[in-house]
Amino acid sequence: MQLTVSHFSDWLVSLSKIYAEQKEYLTELDAAIGDADHGINMARGFGKVAEKVTAFKGDDVGGMLKDTGMTLLATVGGASGPLYGTFFTKAGVAVSGKNEIDAEAMLAMLEAGKKGVIQRGRAALEDKTMVDALEPAVKAYTDALAGGASLPECLTACADAAKAGMQSTVPLQAKKGRASYLGERSIGHQDPGATSVHFLLQSLADVCR
Ligand code: ADP
Ligand code: MG
Repeated sequence: MQLTVSHFSDWLVSLSKIYAEQKEYLTELDAAIGDADHGINMARGFGKVAEKVTAFKGDDVGGMLKDTGMTLLATVGGASGPLYGTFFTKAGVAVSGKNEIDAEAMLAMLEAGKKGVIQRGRAALEDKTMVDALEPAVKAYTDALAGGASLPECLTACADAAKAGMQSTVPLQAKKGRASYLGERSIGHQDPGATSVHFLLQSLADVCR
């Protein structure tokens, strides 16, 4: 299976719907340990991304992802704007000029996006951030691919691991970002950013099935 720009366009448009639907939920999660804007940030950013994607001309998947990164950088504030902006920009650079994405190219994209987020935010595993969903998700994809799984199977493994990673943030104390100001009071709440990463990767798996 090869993914083209139309799959990525479906993904990004579907994300705009998902983040619009989940706006209140993500904002509630952020109200508990942050400043109650994560859902608003994601809905605004991906609303703009969907507009741009619909008008996108060309077959270059890398170009579409890089544009998405720039749009997120420009429209989403807070910590998550630069982090998601970096994720998509780096993912786009990894597949620059490619019209077809196979399972290996998808791994290169996800790996580059994840590395970008870590470089930019300097969060480690168990700091209760997006990285707690992203890192195990990319690892699960890598392992599935090494085991001979197909692209849709790799993406399903990736989404399942992101969900488990999201759930793993509940007992953690935040070490990065706004939630870290709460110290021990951040324990017992699910991280909003890890939750939006789960939606991102679940939707990618759904679109490619
Ligand atoms: P802000 O915290 O500026 O209000 P958002 O509410 O949109 O921004 O996003 C909060 C999310 O950003 C957190 O739940 C966390 O997952 C993520 N985050 C914050 N700082 C970092 C970091 N340094 N590295 C990775 N993710 C981070
Ligand atoms: Mg916030």
